[in-house]
Amino acid sequence: MPVVGMAGGGQLARMTQQAAIALGVSLRVLAGSADDSAARVCADVVVGDDASLDDLLTFAKGCDVVTFDHEHVPGPHIRALEEAGVPARPGAAALLHAQDKLVMRERLTELGAPCPAHAPVPAAEPLEFLEAFAREHGRPLVLKATRGGYDGKGVWLLDDLDDASALIARLAAEGVGLMVEEHVPFRRELAAVVARSPYGQGAAYPVVETVQEDGICVEVLAPAPGLAPGRAAEAQRLALDIAEKLGVTGLLAVELFETETGLLVNELAMRPHNSGHWTIEGSRTSQFEQHLRAVLDLPLGSTEPTARHTVMANVLGGDDPDLYPRYIHVMAHDPAVKVHFYGKDVRPGRKIGHVTACGDDLAEVRERARHAADYLRWGPR
Ligand code: ADP
Repeated sequence: MPVVGMAGGGQLARMTQQAAIALGVSLRVLAGSADDSAARVCADVVVGDDASLDDLLTFAKGCDVVTFDHEHVPGPHIRALEEAGVPARPGAAALLHAQDKLVMRERLTELGAPCPAHAPVPAAEPLEFLEAFAREHGRPLVLKATRGGYDGKGVWLLDDLDDASALIARLAAEGVGLMVEEHVPFRRELAAVVARSPYGQGAAYPVVETVQEDGICVEVLAPAPGLAPGRAAEAQRLALDIAEKLGVTGLLAVELFETETGLLVNELAMRPHNSGHWTIEGSRTSQFEQHLRAVLDLPLGSTEPTARHTVMANVLGGDDPDLYPRYIHVMAHDPAVKVHFYGKDVRPGRKIGHVTACGDDLAEVRERARHAADYLRWGPR
């Protein structure tokens, strides 16, 4: 049976391990420490730094294919893996579009995919540039670090540009590459998760609505309630098209804004994604199994939903690190709610798990998921 290497030992690798068990394939994880979420549950863990080429090459020896649970492995390292004969899926050329927001925007615009108006922020006279951009596209502006952001870190809403000058000076001093975007007055955020295999097979999950608070995804509603079938199909086609044009292998999550006039692409992720956790219970094939099937070039699994509505709510850390006693209430209150805990240390606001509820009545399913997630975080209130 093949060995799949996954660089990164976070919760995505941990949940991929669950899928690997069922398929009987081996997952080898390159984790930063033996305490990492996935390192605690995988039999084959290499502790090392996935930003180090030596560590990466040592880890990849004996792997049939290497994939990633995050976007931070440097492109040249991934190319070196490929040159050493270990296929990387996705490959370096595709993954660049999930690593660098400016490269992604420019390429998608070239491909005709709808994106917010955007521009690189020049190092010389950035404020003058932003003033001119604001005159054309209005305020506020959205300033983004081109690389390295996550959960809203690396995204700044700028209203008063005078207030922004200190921020921009600091980022420039740190060598952070910057781009600016128009602020999109979206109705809601959606995500289209698809898979593509090296053979060229594609599979699309139902389009979901994602709800963010303070830049963190807190809730996913599957399928996106009230989304017109034509628009859902458009989002799926767009995601499959991007996967094909960029040569993505494995999963691709396309984060979208739904506006009054249509869809705009926000971001790309090329790995299992928070907006796909609902598939563990809500779909015939979980996104984690699908990612393994895709990177192994196996036929892809059915994305048919198992319930009319599935809602996933992320569990964030609260003040009390000991959440296990709260399982009793959550499980007794609603035996059909599924709890996923990532084995991470509990810190206030940190994503430490998720819960999933399925059913026929969206409002009820949503309330069940919310209640379980809130209770796990806060206990009785
Ligand atoms: P991250 O890489 O941290 O996930 P994103 O680029 O996805 O950053 O932005 C985080 C959040 O900021 C988005 O989910 C969205 O709510 C908001 N956002 C990002 N870009 C824009 C934009 N151009 N207009 C309006 N809101 C935006």
